[in-house]
Amino acid sequence: MAEAPATETFGFQAEVKQLLRLMVHSLYSDREIFLRELISNASDANDRLRFESLQQPELLDDAASLEILIEIDAEARTITVADTGIGMSREEIIEQLGTIAHSGTGRFLENLTGDQKKDSQLIGQFGVGFYSAFIVANEVTVVSRRADLPADAAVAWISSGEGEYSVGPAGKERPGTRVTLKLKDDAAEFLDEHRIRSLIRKYSDHVGFPIRLKTPDKDAEQVNRARALWTRPRGEIKNEEYLEFYRHVTHDFAEPLTFSHNKVEGKREYTSLLYVPSVAPMDLWNREAPRGIKLYVQRVFITDHAAEFLPLYLRFIRGVVDSNDLSLNVSREMLQQDPAIAAMRSALTKRVLDMLERLTDEDPAKYSTFWSQFGPTLKEGLAEDAANREKIAALIRFRTTRSEQEDRSLDAYLADKDASQDRIYYLISESAAAAAASPHLEAFRDRNIEALLLADRIDEWALNYLTEYKGIALKDVSRGELELPDGGKAPEIQAEPDKEQKDLLKRLKRALRDKVEEVRPSPRLRESAACIVLGEQDLGYQMKEMLKAVGQALPETKPSLEINLEHPLIARLAAEGDQDRFAKLAHLVYDQAVLAEGRQLEDPARFVRLLNELLFDAGG
Ligand code: ADP
Ligand code: MG
Repeated sequence: MAEAPATETFGFQAEVKQLLRLMVHSLYSDREIFLRELISNASDANDRLRFESLQQPELLDDAASLEILIEIDAEARTITVADTGIGMSREEIIEQLGTIAHSGTGRFLENLTGDQKKDSQLIGQFGVGFYSAFIVANEVTVVSRRADLPADAAVAWISSGEGEYSVGPAGKERPGTRVTLKLKDDAAEFLDEHRIRSLIRKYSDHVGFPIRLKTPDKDAEQVNRARALWTRPRGEIKNEEYLEFYRHVTHDFAEPLTFSHNKVEGKREYTSLLYVPSVAPMDLWNREAPRGIKLYVQRVFITDHAAEFLPLYLRFIRGVVDSNDLSLNVSREMLQQDPAIAAMRSALTKRVLDMLERLTDEDPAKYSTFWSQFGPTLKEGLAEDAANREKIAALIRFRTTRSEQEDRSLDAYLADKDASQDRIYYLISESAAAAAASPHLEAFRDRNIEALLLADRIDEWALNYLTEYKGIALKDVSRGELELPDGGKAPEIQAEPDKEQKDLLKRLKRALRDKVEEVRPSPRLRESAACIVLGEQDLGYQMKEMLKAVGQALPETKPSLEINLEHPLIARLAAEGDQDRFAKLAHLVYDQAVLAEGRQLEDPARFVRLLNELLFDAGG
């Protein structure tokens, strides 16, 4: 057998040092959470061993022996959390307990601002993991033996949490991990058996393994219920237990907005417990980031990130699915192909959408938090999930010309619209403020017709798929010909333009021929001189940006310019005899229309030059 490597000393990664410093100073009032974190790790380790033993049964001869033992020794001033789980090899222990490469703590660090005070507040919102042991201990010893390695391959990891740790050989009869905390002088409360017992009940009752408590003068005694939370009947579970379980699964210490716990029986049998978080993770925008729910098969843990049970646009949902039908040996590939999973996915999708709908009803304030965090993600569903499109559309919220400060739903829009209005109108802009101020909406405001104001990056893409809602077509007001309800086109352009006006349109078209396809009188405008209108099928500005960003060639299309024949600036233009000055004015009118929509000019310097020239002219 190979010689065991000697004891070596290592320095913690800089981030770990930073974390340790923060934790010890700021979590002082919440010190008890260390126990929850250590039990959570022990439970994960047991889960992993049970999972690996599906492939290698020799790793676990008796599943009943998976347990968590907590020992208190008042004389030695130690508390020990021991599991019989997967354990760690020497390399693993250095990697896992010396750097931050893992879930909960990693999420915490991503959110750090560098401002000591803010960061201290943040720390309470995350599962801070193993290092929380140093809040109460001045020395932590971890002895671990990986389940597939012999007794003399066990390792001992020791640190006082200051800057270094050492790793050396150890002997350990049973596979698994023992974490021993030498408590600080002021942490003696954690030597009290009653205190520990109540902490276990409070934080870890739902852990699916027996947690036994032992003191030097008493035999070990089981403290928790040892029944996975989701297997218990709903009526028997307290709200606080659901919340604690959420923290356990997600490491998210902000309360979820809502959850739904269901047991399906019959042809397929499975239980789901799904939560809607109240805060979006940093990487929510990233469609490739690991996601998904925790999958169990017949109560055996299979994976943390089963992405197959919900569509991508619901990737923010967290929780657990426990299936009785799937094979314990289920692999990634099988998950992707199994028709049973496709059926579960569609049922779970409905369940989530129903849960959100219930929330809109029961707690609009919470729904509005949901919307602010996950709205754009949910909108992806309009494109991705044709079968549920109408359900999703009902959940979408909008600012509108009638409600610029508060969100409205499509149903509210329909309920308030005039019977003669047979379209749902909307406008997409760079920002809600730009949408609200856009010249495109002047006629709408004038006639008190409500329009939705959209400004999310994905709105154009998503709205492309929502052509109608409850039988009413949606119409982008910045595209194509516009016919407003109550009597067709706006009165002032009903008549054919007269000869003078026709002339003006022609001169403008000539002056702006590189920029616009057509110049025509506008039914849209009241106060503004002009606006730019896209063709019904043209790519919009958001899609163009998106395609440009990925290096795609863009089709060459030109918009139309619509002008307000009543506007003094247009009258001034019509009266301009000088060809050169006319062209300059025409370009200014065009640029103004671009700016009024809140968009960028292609050549701002030229705009400024033109404007100054004309200003000096006017003054001179
Ligand atoms: P997290 O649990 O979020 O991954 P922790 O800081 O709690 O973060 O733990 C860090 C890592 O250390 C775990 O991901 C795991 O790989 C390892 N670890 C901690 N405790 C144990 C244990 N009792 N048995 C096996 N591995 C453990
Ligand atoms: Mg942990």
